[in-house]
Amino acid sequence: MKLILFGPPGAGKGTQGELISAALNIPTVSTGAMLRAAIKEGTELGKQAESIMATGALVPDEVVVGILKDRLAAEDCKNGFILDGFPRTIPQAETLEALGIQIDCVLSLEVPDETIIERMSGRRSCPQCGATYHVVYNPPKKLTSQCDVCGAVLKQRDDDKPEVVKNRLNVYHKETEPLKAYYEGKGLLKSVVGQPQVEETSRLVREALGIEA
Ligand code: AMP
Repeated sequence: MKLILFGPPGAGKGTQGELISAALNIPTVSTGAMLRAAIKEGTELGKQAESIMATGALVPDEVVVGILKDRLAAEDCKNGFILDGFPRTIPQAETLEALGIQIDCVLSLEVPDETIIERMSGRRSCPQCGATYHVVYNPPKKLTSQCDVCGAVLKQRDDDKPEVVKNRLNVYHKETEPLKAYYEGKGLLKSVVGQPQVEETSRLVREALGIEA
């Protein structure tokens, strides 16, 4: 299955992506995670992206498309993949089509702005492996402020800080949300309303995609 996980920043795309990835045995491809890895490695691309990401703006289409194309050509994407955070603009969606990539489903996670702001202030990420948590709704199971997966100390992402979150939401509404109508017109859009409990959202996501529990 070639799936796009759609929704505002902080809607739970990362968390739901992990669940679907494990259930369907296909990788999650997150352009945000790839960009953060490039920043960590100090590559030229990372240096270009860092200052843009810090403001909550979008990295230019050609930069993101470049890294995505290489990733989707990898062997583990042959049987499908889950796109998290891509496409974010109509030209990015058109690029997917131009590359001959046929998307099977676009799953939109619907979460209102106020909830996003509340969620993102409590979101913590692992700087080592990228796993995400929430101090109230999805805390680490082993030790407070340590990643369950790799043990690194959890951090708040710079772009999860309140003033940047507001800008990311503005950018989402202006540049990304029009993609909903775009994919609805192609008959590919399914929507799930994000629930306060992660497990409940996961159940609705499984139901929408026909995944057995
Ligand atoms: P995310 O982890 O998906 O929330 O992405 C974090 C940041 O990376 C975004 O705020 C953008 O600055 C950048 N980014 C990630 N994916 C894209 C994309 N498809 N197009 C442009 N910028 C992106």
